[in-house]
Amino acid sequence: MEKNEKDFLHGASAAMADKQLQANLGRLMMILRTMHSAGVGSAANFEDLRRCASEVKRHTLEHLDFYLETFEKKVIEKGGKVYYAETCEDLNSIVVEICRRRGARIAVKGKSMVSEETGLNRALEKAGIEVTETDMGEYIVQLAHERPSHLVGPAIHKNKEQIADLFMKHHDLGPRSLDNIPSIVAEGRKVLREKFIKADVGITGANALIAETGSVLLVTNEGNGDLCSTLPKVHIVVSGIEKVVPRLEDAGAILRVLARSITGQAMSCYTSIFTGPREGPEDAGPEEFHVVLLDNHRSEILAGEFRDILRCIRCSSCMNHCPVFGVTGGHAYGSVYVGPMGSVLTPLMEGMREAGDLPDACCGDDRCAEVCPMMIPLPDLLRRLRTRKWNMGIGSRPLKWGLSAYMKTALRPRLFHAASGAAAVLASMLQGGKKRPVFSLNRMHGIKTHLPTPQGKPFFSPLGRKRREL
Ligand code: SF4
Repeated sequence: MEKNEKDFLHGASAAMADKQLQANLGRLMMILRTMHSAGVGSAANFEDLRRCASEVKRHTLEHLDFYLETFEKKVIEKGGKVYYAETCEDLNSIVVEICRRRGARIAVKGKSMVSEETGLNRALEKAGIEVTETDMGEYIVQLAHERPSHLVGPAIHKNKEQIADLFMKHHDLGPRSLDNIPSIVAEGRKVLREKFIKADVGITGANALIAETGSVLLVTNEGNGDLCSTLPKVHIVVSGIEKVVPRLEDAGAILRVLARSITGQAMSCYTSIFTGPREGPEDAGPEEFHVVLLDNHRSEILAGEFRDILRCIRCSSCMNHCPVFGVTGGHAYGSVYVGPMGSVLTPLMEGMREAGDLPDACCGDDRCAEVCPMMIPLPDLLRRLRTRKWNMGIGSRPLKWGLSAYMKTALRPRLFHAASGAAAVLASMLQGGKKRPVFSLNRMHGIKTHLPTPQGKPFFSPLGRKRREL
């Protein structure tokens, strides 16, 4: 990763100067919010479903060690294997080793945020294993050598013309026309089918791990996860430890809010449950079934004041409703997890000094908490992270001095009224003059805006008081 990729301000201002990205994002945010409203509105008791799903996760997190042990025991009983990876590097080495043992040369992968978190593709390629993403959005960003810019729509920053250009460049299929979405999707599907058939290993993520049966629940809208897990001889599941739930019906509680919060569907097109490898020669499915569970600081988060973020089911609703994400897109965050949930999770996983600018990527409208199906208090967690950053002495000094002066003034009503009144008078005078005050959002990209001018009398002036009395 380039150094400045972690600098949110730099990434955000570059994104705001990119007219094509702004057009793509504006259109998609509107569509995603409309779908969300329709999905939530279609369930008369959505608030009850939210409470039920978050209670399942709250309970599981309180007894996580017990449910993980139960899950492991059941997977082994069914003929599978379970591995615990403390770090990203551990997970990558375990997966590479499984592939090596089978002499695997080709792997296909379903969508998995954990594999993005660990950089699994790079580790597999380094080990000489060809790996192809099979979720269409992930496949597009893999061809473009980019990160996903969204949890469930990895390529939402691209329009159809940009995708058609990528396919023309990377698929050696001769002269053809890719001027509409069905032709682009048909070509992607044709290329990916061949990869599925040739693959030695299939790698997928998991939406839930069911402790009582040792099963893995996977949700997709494209069916690629089912092909990854049933066609190759080896199926490897990579997942965070927090994905475990006690029973199948508890996974059902999560499913009821998951698709509604993403695409507005009552259920995704494909909901599959995998339990162990095939049992006999006539059975379908893989010969080997492996589950690799990643910690990567999750145990520390579980033990601390940010535990609530482990209830996240990666539905993307918070980012789809976030005004900041709506103009910056995902790449500005410089990390795998983006939007409000990423602004909480990334500093906890990567460190405050490395990603401490992300909790500032918040306009404080609290919409993320209102739409989160798992009732995660995201604004509160972001505020706590900003406090932690302040206490650690991280951040720009002028900003800290400014905030400190504001805090001292705001705690003294008389001083605050005098200062805000003087500021309003000054702004009005500047407005009446030739030069309007200009606020530079980013000098490098030339983004500027005019400061708003206060209208009418200050709220606490004698006239303002008279108005309120009337
Ligand atoms: S924090 Fe909530 S809204 Fe955001 S992705 Fe996670 S579950 Fe969805």
